[in-house]
Amino acid sequence: MANAKELKEKYFLDLKNGYKRITEAEEKQILDYCEGYKNFLNSAKTEREAVKTAIALAAKKGYKEFVPGQKYSTGDKFFINNRGKAAAFIKIGKESAEKGVNIAAAHIDSPRLDLKPQPLYEDSELSLFKTHYYGGIRKYQWTAIPLSLHGVVSLKNGETVEITIGEDENDPVFVVSDLLPHLAKEQSKRTLNEGIKGEELNVIIGSRPFSDDDESELVKLNILNILFNKYNIKEEDFYSAELECVPAFKARDLGFDRSMIGSYGHDDRVCAYPCFTALLDTDENESEKELNKTAVIILADKEEIGSDGNTGLNSAFLKYVVDDLCRPFNLSTTVALRNSSCLSADVNGAFDPTFSDVFERKNSAYLNYGTVITKYTGAGGKSSTNDASAEYMAKIRKILDDNNVIWQAGELGKVDAGGGGTVAKYIANLGVDVVDIGVPVLSMHSPFETVAKLDIYNTFKAIKAFILNA
Ligand code: MN
Ligand code: MN
Repeated sequence: MANAKELKEKYFLDLKNGYKRITEAEEKQILDYCEGYKNFLNSAKTEREAVKTAIALAAKKGYKEFVPGQKYSTGDKFFINNRGKAAAFIKIGKESAEKGVNIAAAHIDSPRLDLKPQPLYEDSELSLFKTHYYGGIRKYQWTAIPLSLHGVVSLKNGETVEITIGEDENDPVFVVSDLLPHLAKEQSKRTLNEGIKGEELNVIIGSRPFSDDDESELVKLNILNILFNKYNIKEEDFYSAELECVPAFKARDLGFDRSMIGSYGHDDRVCAYPCFTALLDTDENESEKELNKTAVIILADKEEIGSDGNTGLNSAFLKYVVDDLCRPFNLSTTVALRNSSCLSADVNGAFDPTFSDVFERKNSAYLNYGTVITKYTGAGGKSSTNDASAEYMAKIRKILDDNNVIWQAGELGKVDAGGGGTVAKYIANLGVDVVDIGVPVLSMHSPFETVAKLDIYNTFKAIKAFILNA
């Protein structure tokens, strides 16, 4: 008779907490890497800031702006800036693009409160901004927390004014008010979904009248006077602005053991940062410097609102990037896409013991169990998802195991509990093999999301192993 313990070791899945798999030296690498990630979070709270920060880091490593028509050769490194809101980072490999390129895609937009086209008003001698929420937020979470304002105002003369207020310790911040419990008797009867309504997400921005003149709207006037003096903008300039209210908190270590990071915007900068730093890191080691296949890192906009628009991935952006690699050599873009592999790097919901009833324990992602491979997303009966093939899953899990990546497989909650999607299906629609990978997150889409450091580092390791070996 065979020994049951030995046979179990041989046949059973070997799932354990990542901390049981790493050495002290590896733990130090995790902590070091996450310091860089926290800096990235603090300087990249919007898609525009993420593009700018990523390009600055890549430029330091020798990445140059893309020149259309140029015949790039092995080892060349460049970036394509799509309107300052999405970007591609490319390093040319030895093989022809028609053999396929290795793509890692993540998104850099996050849920937030956007200002409406005519946001500014005064009511009862307070000045406020009307907002329109962006992405899937739980509205009640966005009241009574400090907000900062980020974005651009484009003027008719072609100039664009950049605004960031609320990040510096000495800056003022803004807030959406909520009712005091004493008077919330009726509001408290609303469903959680309606607890705060869309038109109640009004941001308080001022209370001081301009002067003691006998005029109306003096608080609003005072705000416009401040804005004109500081930025040279008038009320009509809001028509051509993209201004976003985001939580003013900084990324912080979380837990007595500092094993986690709490921050706004982990979804999906917690995958975007691993994607482009994995590519940059291939230059650090002589044996990894030369890539077999061309690597394409995509940082996409608009994922949180369905990926539509010319900076989202339900556009021709990625297809044109691959075309830019093929055309100068008279190569076929369709052949290149058909032979390409992709990791769609996006977060998954982590198992939450406080709300365990929406998760199915055997197929959930857990904090500290490593980067999570998600074969399919979608909702209901697998609707609206790229469902990665068994063959492609096998290829990816071999790459991860061969490179000692700590990883797990999971799906988003119980069947029929809800659902969600990523950019994977849009890339799959181009003929590319795609599977989702990413970091498990607690409180996803909230103003302060939680992730585990071990999972971030292993997502970085996974992306790098993929770039080098797929
Ligand atoms: Mn996401
Ligand atoms: Mn999301």
